[in-house]
Amino acid sequence: MCGIVGYIGKSNTSEILVDGLKELEYRGYDSAGIAILKSDKIEVYKALGKIVNLEEKVSHNECTLKEDGFSIGIGHTRWATHGKPTELNAHPHLGEYSYVVHNGIIENYKELKDELIEAGHKFVSQTDTEVIVHLFEFYFNQNNDADLSFDLTIKRLEGAYSILLITKSQQNKIFFMKHGSPMAIAKGKNEGEILFASSDAPLIGLASDVVYLEDGVSGVASSSGLTFSTKVSWSTLSNSKQFAQKDGFRFFMEKEIYEQSDVVVDSMMGRLQDDSISFDELDPSLLDGINEIKICACGTSYHAGLTSTYLFERFSKIRCSIEIASEFRYKEPLLTKDTLFVVISQSGETADTLEALKMAKNAGLKTIVVCNVDNSSMTRVADTTILTRAGIEKGVASTKAFSTQAVVLWMMALSFGDIKNNISKEVLKKEIKVLREVPLALKVEDSVHEKCKRLSKRYLHGHGFFFIGRDVFFPLALEGALKLKEISYLHAEGYPAGEMKHGPIALADPELFTIALMPQHLHYDKIKSNVEELSARDSTICAISPLPFDLADDFINTKKTDHYMLEFFEMLIVLQIFSMEITVRLGNDVDMPRNLAKSVTVE
Ligand code: GLU
Repeated sequence: MCGIVGYIGKSNTSEILVDGLKELEYRGYDSAGIAILKSDKIEVYKALGKIVNLEEKVSHNECTLKEDGFSIGIGHTRWATHGKPTELNAHPHLGEYSYVVHNGIIENYKELKDELIEAGHKFVSQTDTEVIVHLFEFYFNQNNDADLSFDLTIKRLEGAYSILLITKSQQNKIFFMKHGSPMAIAKGKNEGEILFASSDAPLIGLASDVVYLEDGVSGVASSSGLTFSTKVSWSTLSNSKQFAQKDGFRFFMEKEIYEQSDVVVDSMMGRLQDDSISFDELDPSLLDGINEIKICACGTSYHAGLTSTYLFERFSKIRCSIEIASEFRYKEPLLTKDTLFVVISQSGETADTLEALKMAKNAGLKTIVVCNVDNSSMTRVADTTILTRAGIEKGVASTKAFSTQAVVLWMMALSFGDIKNNISKEVLKKEIKVLREVPLALKVEDSVHEKCKRLSKRYLHGHGFFFIGRDVFFPLALEGALKLKEISYLHAEGYPAGEMKHGPIALADPELFTIALMPQHLHYDKIKSNVEELSARDSTICAISPLPFDLADDFINTKKTDHYMLEFFEMLIVLQIFSMEITVRLGNDVDMPRNLAKSVTVE
């Protein structure tokens, strides 16, 4: 995870670096730091926690640029993988005369560190990153050639790494390397300016041309230009910065919950006709010879994927299963070419999912990525990209990414059924009609928000939550439980309702909170019996349903609809708001929960 930025130019370097880091803060906020090289001096600022702490330190120290020349700087916002979040472990990491920022994990850092200690290098941090700068200096001390030393250094590294390195011995250069973690390089609007960042966001407005580095590409930037180890392709950077502002909402998460009703319209735009569904990006011949769909994802995307396994089998009649990407990678999976491999990721950068995608691709499978970020790493690997069009999501707890994924996957299930002639025109037409009602189902009613807020009081303590549901409401239960865990830090589990009596019901007592998803149009009687079993054992029940349920201690009434998928989205809203309101009462940071980061670019 983490975000890195770099700058060469004549503008206020510290300001550009700090502003850039703010755009990347969602990627990690354990600590942040910048290093700026001017003449023979390197100025370094580091602070624990959020960028605002770094900003304070920088503004208290004059960190401006000499009028006449270029300055060079690198910056980092950290999501710790090796070593605690302390100032000492904050990037940039220093050797004797060089600084490095790094996104990723150096898997062979231990053996490199031992070797360098043996050679007399002194380490001060517990990070894996510090080996990079020492390795560079180890080589430089031998050959006095910075370019050669950087090449020798990166050849020794294993794992995932995007790196920026500056050194006093070559004062006008930034050395860079990308492998596994993302990096974009842009030409700034002012003469000679070069900018680096982990994603587009910090570059927009400052630059017009960008290159998204492929794995294995390294190079050197200086005030006189850029050199790359291989040919790269430049593209034009969009200048419509959709600066995600809170628009009067208390949190980005809240704004993004309320936005869902609008953004799903974008997800469907141009893809829904009256009696068919088509994706411009998807060539129907992709399904030739396909007998099975394998989905791979992590976290919330996994829950959207699990939801879609029910829909793919139901509507396209293609066998469909899902795996958690980090498990899939190491299980020696059997991959056959009649399987379509679908990965799902908000950022398109999730390390495990990206690797799973590469495995499938290498095994010769046809691949699709469903993601929200164009030009992300996965879009560059997969045969086909289907964008969810959710817009920038800033809240670390994912909301609109999930609803747009669920809508897009549902549309894919229907479209695949049509391509394979496995769905009748009547069913397809009916489902399309229902899809058009999703924006309304996702509209947040004031009364529902108020009710969640009021009820949240009761659910601040207790010894745990079980979110239960059946069919697609089981993945929704998993997502509801994950949302609550992520931001409230309360223990919650999602469970298939029918499974409770195979063990977990032993936990039932008044301090066990059951959040029951009780849709009218999918197995209502079955889930009702399961909830009655829990109620008989004194669990506190909060039922979410369009139908009144007498045994519930609390009841959140969703609108009556005529399709279970509309109930699904109505209930999604309730679960998201319920988690948020509990979190507000507990006084936690809703948008930036502890220990988490927005995109998980380490495995
Ligand atoms: N592994 C490095 C560290 O723990 C970088 C982590 C990151 O990508 O934020 O400091």
